[in-house]
Amino acid sequence: MTGANRGIGREVCRQLAALGHTVLLTARSAEAATAAAAELGPEVHPVRLDVTSEDDAVRVAGEVAGRFGRLDVLVNNAAITYDTWQRASTADLDVVRQAAETNLYGPWRLTQALLPLLRESAHPRIVNVSSEAASLTNMGGGTPAYTSSKVALNALTRMLAAELRTDRILVNAVCPGWVATDMGGPGGRPVPEGAASVVWAATLPDGGPTGGFFRDGRPLPW
Ligand code: NDP
Repeated sequence: MTGANRGIGREVCRQLAALGHTVLLTARSAEAATAAAAELGPEVHPVRLDVTSEDDAVRVAGEVAGRFGRLDVLVNNAAITYDTWQRASTADLDVVRQAAETNLYGPWRLTQALLPLLRESAHPRIVNVSSEAASLTNMGGGTPAYTSSKVALNALTRMLAAELRTDRILVNAVCPGWVATDMGGPGGRPVPEGAASVVWAATLPDGGPTGGFFRDGRPLPW
């Protein structure tokens, strides 16, 4: 679980642990990971992971291999830059690039690093936390760095799902809805409801959907 020291990521860890799963709560700050995991119980293990770091991805894959020998679920949740009131026609491309580094290349990098461990699982799943803002039916602009990174994440989801079908890895994109976190701001729905949308995809049964885009277990238009 990436970006799990606060917001939706932290709550997904809580819900998965409550279902009896062993959870690796990752955060780019070791202290933040340790503090969040300590509040959630003994089955939640803190791990330092900055999703923009290739070295971190390799180290974490090694740690998981050594401690557990497999990974059942990868939840790519960490994200930055909800760049409200910007325009694609004038956007700062450095900001766009930074958003892609975390929101797109982060999940891509981690998927590649952790695939050998997912292949060791009997029920492997990848969940890419996306946003309805990335639906091509919803392309009104307003958050160009964020939206373009999530559109590309959705495309990655489709490609991985097709490629990994033979490995029985279910790969889906999920929108948590508008959620009252630091990113979402006040007025969104409660964090547990948004997190439940993610947990649904993380706990799909064998034979469940792959290559889909969902919110609350219901398909969203690409
Ligand atoms: P928050 O801003 O509350 O939390 C983001 C998390 O990502 C933090 O833990 C942050 O860590 C972490 N993070 C950022 N950059 C990195 C990095 N390089 N490496 C590791 N962790 C990193 O966001 P939410 O909880 O609201 O969002 C979670 C997901 O849900 C995101 O993918 C978001 O796009 C998506 N989403 C959210 C919506 C909402 O309304 N909230 C709506 C639609 C989608 P740190 O504390 O170190 O900054």
